Amino acid sequence: MLSILLLCCLALSGTEAVMGLQVHFIDVGQADSTLLIDSGKTMLIDAGNNADGRLVVRYLQNLGIEHIDILVGTHPHEDHIGGLDDVIENFSIGQIVMPAKTHNTQSFEDVLDAIAGSGRRITVPKVGDLFQIGESTLTLLAPVRTDYFNINDHSLVFKLVRSGKRILFAADAETVSEWHMIGNKADLASDILKVGHHGSDTSTNTTFIGQVSPTISIVHVGKANPYAHPSQSVLKRIPGTIYRTDLEGTIIVSISETGAISVDTHRQHPNPAWQEVLYIGDSSSKIYHRITCSALPGAALQVGLFSKEEALTCGYSPCTVCKP
Ligand SMILES: [Zn+2]
Ligand SMILES: [Zn+2]
Repeated sequence: MLSILLLCCLALSGTEAVMGLQVHFIDVGQADSTLLIDSGKTMLIDAGNNADGRLVVRYLQNLGIEHIDILVGTHPHEDHIGGLDDVIENFSIGQIVMPAKTHNTQSFEDVLDAIAGSGRRITVPKVGDLFQIGESTLTLLAPVRTDYFNINDHSLVFKLVRSGKRILFAADAETVSEWHMIGNKADLASDILKVGHHGSDTSTNTTFIGQVSPTISIVHVGKANPYAHPSQSVLKRIPGTIYRTDLEGTIIVSISETGAISVDTHRQHPNPAWQEVLYIGDSSSKIYHRITCSALPGAALQVGLFSKEEALTCGYSPCTVCKP
């Protein structure tokens, strides 16, 4: 109970306390989810896989966020839009932005149902459209065309400018989309790049990365993923410093009012309000276990406990199998 109170108090620090721009590349494994906070305004670009929905919701709630001004589903693959339905059901949403591309999957249907249930409509942007989050301005650079065969090339690609610094969010855009941005004379030059398609070799072509020329790059990628992302050849052709969510966990990039860039990496959750659940209590037997115990109760009976002290205070006794 004490822990829950503590969580609530800390959460009050909220988004108002953020000076400048904060970009949270949330560790959702082999998937994308990026939260932007600027001057109390929020934007969420993708929400991970279906199974990540609750994690993303909790991450935002722990930051004290109740409203998302702009919610983006970059393209209809599950690893980007999977958790959007949970987000839509748990927050008030200003604008929902998605490309004009549908996909015949349950994940995508669930998102459409959640949007319909929320009574909102989807904004389908076109290249050159501007979006504002606090003092940050985002311009849509892609998709240049609407007839791509490859769903990844339908990805919404945004370039953000804040205090003179630039961030390119490449989603899963692959080389065809990259060539079309180049052909469209998009101003790609950026200080920071969210690397396209989890560092796959089908993205980040040499000309494209040459024009972006980032000093800091972020790869949203899962540990030991079956696609062998990120590709070694992609890592070699990216200049500057590369941060990877599989190695660093959640990565927070900040741009100050004066344009200073800083990067925070957290093997653990970066939110000071966050606490790791170390033990699982069984609400029926009143026994508590290590989170890895083989004798955990069913999900319906599980109670998260933050410490041994909390477990004992709440009347739990230790499991004899895992001996917490
Ligand atoms: Zn993806
Ligand atoms: Zn994709």
